[in-house]
Amino acid sequence: QFQALSQPGRIGSLALPHRILMGSMHMGLERNPEYMDRLCTFYRDRAEGMAALIITGGAVVLPEGGGEMYVLTNPGHIEMLAKLPEAVHAGGGRIALQLFHAGRYAFSEEIGTQPVAPSAIPSRLTRETPRAMTAEDIARTIEGFANAAITAKRLGFDAVEIMGSEGYLLNQFLSPLTNVRDDEYGGDFERRMRMPLEVVKAVRAAVGAEYPMIYRMSGADLMPDSTTDEETIRFAQALVKTGVDALNIGIGWHESRVPTVQQVVPRGGFAAVAGRIRQHVTVPILGANRLNVPELADQLVADGYLDFIAPARPWLADPDFARKILKGDRQGLNVCIACNQSCLDHTLVKPYQPVSCLVNPRAGQESEWPLVKAGVRRRVAVVGGGPAGLAAAVAAAMRGHEVTLYERDRELGGQFRMAARIPGKAEFYETIRYYEEMLERLAVTVTMQTEPTVDELASFEDVIVAVGVEPKRPSLPGEDLPHVVTYAQILNGQVQVGRNIVIVGAGGIGCDVATYLAEHRHASPEAASFFRAQRLVEPASLARNITVLARSERYGHGIGRSTRWVVKQELQRLGVDVLTGASVRDIRPDTVVIDHDGQEKVVAADQVVLCTGQESARVDWLDELAAKARVHVVGGARESRGINAARAIREAFAAAYRI
Ligand code: SF4
Repeated sequence: QFQALSQPGRIGSLALPHRILMGSMHMGLERNPEYMDRLCTFYRDRAEGMAALIITGGAVVLPEGGGEMYVLTNPGHIEMLAKLPEAVHAGGGRIALQLFHAGRYAFSEEIGTQPVAPSAIPSRLTRETPRAMTAEDIARTIEGFANAAITAKRLGFDAVEIMGSEGYLLNQFLSPLTNVRDDEYGGDFERRMRMPLEVVKAVRAAVGAEYPMIYRMSGADLMPDSTTDEETIRFAQALVKTGVDALNIGIGWHESRVPTVQQVVPRGGFAAVAGRIRQHVTVPILGANRLNVPELADQLVADGYLDFIAPARPWLADPDFARKILKGDRQGLNVCIACNQSCLDHTLVKPYQPVSCLVNPRAGQESEWPLVKAGVRRRVAVVGGGPAGLAAAVAAAMRGHEVTLYERDRELGGQFRMAARIPGKAEFYETIRYYEEMLERLAVTVTMQTEPTVDELASFEDVIVAVGVEPKRPSLPGEDLPHVVTYAQILNGQVQVGRNIVIVGAGGIGCDVATYLAEHRHASPEAASFFRAQRLVEPASLARNITVLARSERYGHGIGRSTRWVVKQELQRLGVDVLTGASVRDIRPDTVVIDHDGQEKVVAADQVVLCTGQESARVDWLDELAAKARVHVVGGARESRGINAARAIREAFAAAYRI
């Protein structure tokens, strides 16, 4: 079905059976001997899932190259790394080691010394200023890359990828923003290219002409005044001339303010960047960034934008990503929804948490939760068809149990269905679709618009209660007025939306509701354009005024670090007024009286939307049922404080594995 992706391909001397690779990512399991088995199982599973080539998370070529990764000068780390090719080869796959140096993106507290870079330019990512590399540092680093490549080859890796994008060290040498040297490694573009090209040359000399070498270059830095498009093409051509076998096109620096991996980025949004480079070079081009569905990826390969796709996160969401695509099983694919909640966001907190996946909590924990049937088949009821209930039902059915799912509403999906209505979050529909497909394939009995009685539930051996959360209504003066509504009423379309809206609460839900209301400013776009054309009203009067009240000085808590800045940027663009340090004093029929920075203010409001947290949905039969069946309460129904979809789904999954 996906013809272009199914074609064999080649990276230098390495013949590959098809075009679907697994791109580099850190699992947060690296360099810890206790996690070695987990990491090996993770990689072996992806090899068995038919990744044509797996590219590892970066391994640093010298100790100052970055923290939390394997260091290729450390004998203990090298010993651990040797297990990865063994695991992948045992799974029938091939594996490339990524050779990495963060330069000024390294954190001094992790590497134990001041980071190094082409020039002493402060980094917005680390909030540190690196030390400018001496000529000796440069020579030592080039040698470090070469030695690291020799190590990779000796350990049985099938290829190496040199990391030169995303604003890391080699990318820093290329850009005038970070390289202001006046020696032979800085100045004009020819000299700024010198260090990365010398690395490629040294690696090629070290591993020989036949060993496959991929270079991950930046296709677009997305930084004002950085490397130009024309220079990027020149660099790509120079890399090919110096001996690379393929170019993997990275997008954007970590300091860039342009989103590259969040849901707001359209699927395949950066493919044109790779396609442009592909027109000017003779080696295969790899690309990723929001390539989560096969129909698009196949089209991009067929249309000549890319030769291989090398996404990373879709392999967390589904370990059989390639196998399913090659079989044409699009409906069976658990699609990465670019939420970053259990992957990227885990690597952006300190201490790092192991990476997993919101829609596939097994990711990174395959050895703990193996795909094996339970010893005894039991009759299981799941109450609630939101994300946790769906995950529980599917996991229990996969374990071989006979499962009945009860949902009170007309549709499955719960909070995910609400989330999917937020502009830029439509990917959540993919997860609902996947779960619905699995329910059918696994023959789960689904009973809609039903609230089961205790007697009915007591006829099951195990009951998983996943009834989720409800909006919390704080006690505020005027909270019971008719124009005060909850976020759920707004997102479920249960109330008419006002014109002057005050949103109380500026966590993840408050920001989502503000985006939703701001993007849907008019009751209907047709009506708005008609009124405008007829000059019946001033355009401004069609707009909604949206004010968000944040109690603290910061807002957007609950949104992961990888995405919060994008949401804030979007609210600003949409003209949403966020008042920080603001609390409600009194809600009146047309206004809200607030305390703002110690002063009383009055904000016009014909609608007040409460985004003031959630509480566990109440069920009054728990105790009675517990006497008659084994009851497992999961997700928001168990504990609403700090609840998020990742935790809810993980708990549901764990409950299914306990049965
Ligand atoms: Fe994709 Fe979200 Fe899973 Fe990360 S956590 S792999 S972004 S679905």
